[in-house]
Amino acid sequence: MDKIKITNLEVFCHHGVYKEENVLGQKFLVSVELYAQLSAAAKKDDILQSVNYGQVCHFIKEEMEKNTYKLIETLTEKLAEAILIHFPLVEKIKIEVKKPWAPILLPIETVAVEMERKWHLVYLSLGSNLGDKESNLNVAIDMLRTNPRCKVTKVSNYIQTEPVGGVEQGDFLNCALELKTLLSPEELLDYIGKIEQKLMRIRTIHWGPRTIDLDILLYDYEVIYSERLIIPHPQMQYRGFVLEPMCTIAPEVKHPVFGKTMYQLYQEYLKQ
Ligand code: ATP
Ligand code: CA
Ligand code: CA
Repeated sequence: MDKIKITNLEVFCHHGVYKEENVLGQKFLVSVELYAQLSAAAKKDDILQSVNYGQVCHFIKEEMEKNTYKLIETLTEKLAEAILIHFPLVEKIKIEVKKPWAPILLPIETVAVEMERKWHLVYLSLGSNLGDKESNLNVAIDMLRTNPRCKVTKVSNYIQTEPVGGVEQGDFLNCALELKTLLSPEELLDYIGKIEQKLMRIRTIHWGPRTIDLDILLYDYEVIYSERLIIPHPQMQYRGFVLEPMCTIAPEVKHPVFGKTMYQLYQEYLKQ
């Protein structure tokens, strides 16, 4: 992917563990690589279709002067996320924050922290079969939209489906959505839990009725198998209520374990 590089932007500010650093301040050097599609801007010779590096530099300066952090680790991560959120064309960032002459009572040139952060591509499945189902789905999606570290990029139609799993209960309203997020898989699971709590989901019977259920289907092309989280969702290939809406928003997206597209998995499901 194309990138814009900014090297050693000097900013005087007050980050550090020691009180003297917070009071006196010191010089920091910031370098960033901003990954973005730049061909449209390049072909049209149009800055509005690019990432304005002047604006990025001023933004970095303001962000660094606005807060005081003890750690350059914190400063670096906050800066990376703020740039990704503020400049929508930037899909990925590599950032290095250098602290020249760090106060360690030894001669040293610089200490630096380097990080890479990006918008992750995620697919979620949503379902509701209690209360006002349409409103429950709307509220859940709104809570994703209002999180600055999430951008909802596609939402499928809502479809009515019959319950699976053997528990006697009402029909579901289901949908799937595409999300770009800065949250890690675990942070996203926590946020989903918050949405479920807000909508008063009470866990009684497994696979029983619920006001809202959000599952993480895919997270980039990652395969995760931990105590709290399995990605891709282990049941997705068996579920029409997941594959049908996924086919409308992401038919060509591949399952990282089976290597098959959503369209192929749905065709196989229909044949069973
Ligand atoms: P199913 O996962 O078969 O659709 P469910 O959605 O009814 O069943 P829940 O009670 O909502 O199950 O979730 C139980 C636990 O599953 C959660 O607490 C969570 O830790 C875990 N979990 C594992 N993988 C995922 C995932 N990909 N998305 C959401 N939750 C997951
Ligand atoms: Ca589920
Ligand atoms: Ca769930």
